[in-house]
Amino acid sequence: MTQKPQNITLREIFSPGGLISQQLEAYEFRQEQLQMAHEVARAFTASEHLIVEAGTGVGKSFAYLIPAISLALKAEQKVVISTNTISLQEQLVTKDIPFLQRVLPRDFNVVLAKGRRNYLSRRRLKNLMNYERGLFDTREEVEEIAEIQEWVDRTVDGSRSDLPWQPQPQVWDKVVSDRDNCLGRNCETYETCFYFKARREMYNADLLIVNHHLLFSDLAIRKDSEAAMSVLPDYDYLIIDEAHHLEATATNHASIDFSNTRVKWLLDSLYNERSEDGLAKRFDSRQLRTQVETAREQANTLFRTIIETMQEEIGSEGNSNNLTPRIHRSNFVKNVLDTPLADIEKTLKRLRDDAMTDDDEQEITAHQHYCRRLRDELDMIIRQSDPDYVYWAEISTRGRTPRILLNATPANVNQMLQDHLFTVKNSIVMTSATLSTNRNFAYFKKRVGISESRELLVHSPFDFKRQVQIHIPRNMPHPNSHGFVPAAIEKIKHYLKLTHGKAFVLFTSYKMMDEVYDAVAPDLEEIGIDTFIQGGELSRTAMLEAFREDTDSVLFGTSSFWEGVDVRGASLSNVIITRLPFEVPTHPVMEARVKQIKEEGGNEFFEFSLPEAILRLKQGFGRLIRTQTDNGIVAILDPRIRTANYGKQFLESLPNCEIVEE
Ligand code: SF4
Repeated sequence: MTQKPQNITLREIFSPGGLISQQLEAYEFRQEQLQMAHEVARAFTASEHLIVEAGTGVGKSFAYLIPAISLALKAEQKVVISTNTISLQEQLVTKDIPFLQRVLPRDFNVVLAKGRRNYLSRRRLKNLMNYERGLFDTREEVEEIAEIQEWVDRTVDGSRSDLPWQPQPQVWDKVVSDRDNCLGRNCETYETCFYFKARREMYNADLLIVNHHLLFSDLAIRKDSEAAMSVLPDYDYLIIDEAHHLEATATNHASIDFSNTRVKWLLDSLYNERSEDGLAKRFDSRQLRTQVETAREQANTLFRTIIETMQEEIGSEGNSNNLTPRIHRSNFVKNVLDTPLADIEKTLKRLRDDAMTDDDEQEITAHQHYCRRLRDELDMIIRQSDPDYVYWAEISTRGRTPRILLNATPANVNQMLQDHLFTVKNSIVMTSATLSTNRNFAYFKKRVGISESRELLVHSPFDFKRQVQIHIPRNMPHPNSHGFVPAAIEKIKHYLKLTHGKAFVLFTSYKMMDEVYDAVAPDLEEIGIDTFIQGGELSRTAMLEAFREDTDSVLFGTSSFWEGVDVRGASLSNVIITRLPFEVPTHPVMEARVKQIKEEGGNEFFEFSLPEAILRLKQGFGRLIRTQTDNGIVAILDPRIRTANYGKQFLESLPNCEIVEE
């Protein structure tokens, strides 16, 4: 057997005739890929942060994986790689990494890390079967638990994705591995515990693949408690792919939400009225049962008052079935739920002190902690105790049970990211195809709070001049004028006939999408072009599948189709951008961000709305060319791209293409 050489340079791996090309027939050497790999390696060696925008086709995953593997092996450093989407994670784990394991000279160990709540707790399942079967409301739920009980003997890793079907959230919740409800080494099933087995594997890994959600769960725990409680093993080197989602994920994680469903979950677990089961029954506590009944009444009063207050505040504006109002004043409702929850907490503490077994003690403690958390969160939101947060509600009264959520969201996460990420890690590489605006990273850096970093813009190796024409029609009315939609309809018909379908028509509002669709679809169907519209009969995935198969069809979509959609080949040869994607800041958090910029003397248009819209346009544009052989047109119907003084910034942020003004 021939020995693979041990010390190999990046050039020897990437260059023509190098290790990759020997194993990958379709491989083409790309200078841009090698340049990115060198920069990643340099950032690791110099312990610096690096921001890389890598256009489509650069092959950025190999460009960061290979330096990461090299660092892990040479310096015995664990490298964490975080992605936003499951599809990228799957690409890394099932395609890119197995290929590199065949090609590279040394073996390395990669683990896909999943969050704790993905794993079943053997102890909780056993307890549920022994004492708490009556906690479920429906026959379906009871049957699901019975199926999980059968599956536990044959599952490989005890994780939810290993189940051939997906249980309802309230069922999985009862058996999931939960930090508050875990006996750790004292658990009788600790040795065979799925979660702790996965954890041991994580500690032995060279590369850990995680998603952004898990990355921030780990950071949140490290921020609030000691590292021993953390989700991930200690690490100093991190790669964040799909980094354009960094701010949004960090914001979600730092947010607090209090909902009627969480209150119901707690109260039903303590005493379920329908089945007359729960902790109160198990520990024979009449006092707890009475307290749960009182809490239920007060919760109803609280949530009813919240709906009435929010409806009053919003007046006749907005859809009364679906409200997302900002909560402007503290103590906007009286916190009538705090005392009943405090009484329950006291009773739980007493029951815990009297508990006869570790199992019982743990079960009660978990509920006590949950009760405490609910009290703290409700109190924080009602009193608006942190001035750096934006307080807002989400109320949906459609359906049988209203859904009421109170949220506290930080207006900015830059300081938090700086304190808990950028200043504590040796080197963080952030990459995506859309990070720069106007060919610099100033906006991205400001939003995520990074001041010192290396920067690299690697252009796509595709020949955009040959592959894409940008069409900008002349004489289009201003998008806010009455004449815009009728004129856009005519242009859309024209461009769709030009390519005989094969198009995405991207909108910024459902209203305009529906209006255009109604006007355009009948003509298209007449000439044999099928149409799909977001929100129609098909799900997003089914619609994309049908679009890929029917090579002459047209897809009308809004927000979720501007990014993360990959259609290769002739099915997509035309992307029509109806309006420049400026977002009207109506969401309370956006509103607060804009207000803050104004208060600091900044210009909210140039410092927020414009860069956000440029990034969005780049994402929409990026749908067209996914491979070297793709080609087509991008039609931009919004005249501001030519007439407004900022229009040039949009065009300069796109790859260099032929522009046709007609
Ligand atoms: S160790 Fe914790 S998570 Fe694992 S089975 Fe026991 S209680 Fe559940």
